[in-house]
Amino acid sequence: MAVMITGECISCGTCIDVCPVMAIVDDSDNPVGDVYYVKPEKCIECVNHAPKPQCADNCPTEGAIVWDMPYTEAFNDYYVLGHEEGRYQIREHKSKGLMSPAVKAMPYVESLEMRAREAHANVSE
Ligand code: SF4
Ligand code: SF4
Repeated sequence: MAVMITGECISCGTCIDVCPVMAIVDDSDNPVGDVYYVKPEKCIECVNHAPKPQCADNCPTEGAIVWDMPYTEAFNDYYVLGHEEGRYQIREHKSKGLMSPAVKAMPYVESLEMRAREAHANVSE
């Protein structure tokens, strides 16, 4: 990921329209819950698209979009475990298999302190 949508989400639909890479699905398509959902294997944290994550910048709800770990090889186990435990549903590719960070890493905001990610801090702060 990337960023993560929490239970604070009010399903207003704003974020889905501003994501540059179509990484967000609505509550009816969320594979793991009943609010909006960010696909970690698609989210690029808006790197090279905008100065800050556009979903969070446009979200009206405090605490609805929080930081998650970088989608990089160093966090492969974290995401694979999350997938197995049902927190994520990472896409399965026909030949490559699970599109985990080890198979395809994504850009992330390198300047962000890791403790903000570990604490799932609000993205908009
Ligand atoms: S941070 Fe950017 S790329 Fe990631 S879900 Fe939000 S809008 Fe999409
Ligand atoms: S903009 Fe915020 S409140 Fe609205 S659907 Fe997205 S995460 Fe939920």
